[in-house]
Amino acid sequence: MYNPKSLKADEFIDHAEIQETLAYADAHKNDRALIEQIIAKAEEMKGLSHREASVLLACEEEDLNERVCQLAERIKLEFYGNRIVMFAPLYLSNYCINGCLYCPYHLKNKHIPRKKLTQDEVRDEVIALQDMGHKRLAIEAGEDPVNNPIEYILDCIKTIYSIHHKNGDIRRVNVNIAATTVENYRKLKEAGIGTYILFQETYHKESYEHLHPTGPKHDYAYHTEAMDRAMDGGIDDVGLGVLFGLELYRYEFAGLLMHAEHLEAVHGVGPHTISVPRVKHADDIDPGAFDNSISDEIFTKIIACIRVAVPYTGMIISTRESEAVRAKALRLGISQISGGSRTSVGGYTEEERPHDTEQFDVSDQRTLDEVVQWLMKDDFIPSFCTACYREGRTGDRFMALCKNRQILNCCHPNALMTLQEYLEDYASPETKAVGEALIAREIENVPNEKVRTIAKQNLNAIKNEGKRDFRF
Ligand code: SAM
Repeated sequence: MYNPKSLKADEFIDHAEIQETLAYADAHKNDRALIEQIIAKAEEMKGLSHREASVLLACEEEDLNERVCQLAERIKLEFYGNRIVMFAPLYLSNYCINGCLYCPYHLKNKHIPRKKLTQDEVRDEVIALQDMGHKRLAIEAGEDPVNNPIEYILDCIKTIYSIHHKNGDIRRVNVNIAATTVENYRKLKEAGIGTYILFQETYHKESYEHLHPTGPKHDYAYHTEAMDRAMDGGIDDVGLGVLFGLELYRYEFAGLLMHAEHLEAVHGVGPHTISVPRVKHADDIDPGAFDNSISDEIFTKIIACIRVAVPYTGMIISTRESEAVRAKALRLGISQISGGSRTSVGGYTEEERPHDTEQFDVSDQRTLDEVVQWLMKDDFIPSFCTACYREGRTGDRFMALCKNRQILNCCHPNALMTLQEYLEDYASPETKAVGEALIAREIENVPNEKVRTIAKQNLNAIKNEGKRDFRF
């Protein structure tokens, strides 16, 4: 029985409810009156139910689809402005005891060398990332209680936060590791992590069990209920995602929104972020083996529909996507992107991009400097801000900031100040010139005069006095 408040995976991601939702969406895909009503509700910018959003995703009326895209752009600007938060993944270990059919780290893959960073190697990787200008990382590891126990992950987090190379500083570590216990989530919280990210891969239980034939990840309920345990362990900010290509996208879309509704119903706060990865080629993995791959057009429509359905949730896109797709996705709702990523264990200290332990092929292979410059030329503000969680603005407190539209007085100056740091310490001369002009323009858009004046003083102090790490 469908029950968003239930703590049982089968009940908050109820298969029958998803099927009814898809049938309803299909029956109404040309129902202009209903679709217009849903768009009108979405225009209030308070979100949509999974059923309403599923109708928008199924909609076959060209002009109405266009209106949804325009609304997605408006919502993006309203809540997130033109800021794009930058991050990089850091692969710690590719040891894994799971049998995920789509992942090259699966236990039976004997082609790839298995590698786990020592603390000295973590240090070297972090220095390389700091030298690029990164302030925010997402750490990634396979699931292996012997090689990658929670103590190893905690040690790595400690090492990462302890390194201050030149003006470098990793100020927020997000964590993408396998589902674990409340006790371990509590340890991660105590280690000062930002968001706990765990992709559902697929919400379709039968497919899930087929795609994860062996290992602890096989347990659908344990995996699907992980975010509840994370929140019980004190982690306020959790990041959802599905791996598009594995199952029918409409099924995943409804499941994803039901998961968000469940978190809101039980914990009073929805997901902090939603990621939208697509299956990519990797060693021993042929994306063609999965018959549910989606076109770029459907992919960007999904992003727009997520944007209007959950306006306060950040959305993340990785370097799995090409420059062209990323450009479109940014307009439709994405608020965080990775840049200069290496998806192999130890990849950042290698001169050449290594392929032997890559988790997936990287489509966007530009350097961070190139991505930053590209964003700014398109009038986006690359932000290296990590202020919210350091100021205790997590979970519902972050959402309140977002809902009260206070981000222009807070996130906007923070983005500009952290961008100024980047320009001073890491940017190429051309990027610096583009950035200086952008900051001069954008600082005038801070509405509160007092905040604007302080932000200008801080920008000066960063430029002329070598000061760092200001935040509102
Ligand atoms: N091992 C952890 C787990 O099982 O949740 C998380 C880390 S894993 C390195 C990060 C994510 O990469 C997975 O959740 C999966 O969605 C994604 N991934 C795996 N194989 C992929 C592929 N071939 N193409 C694109 N993404 C992939």
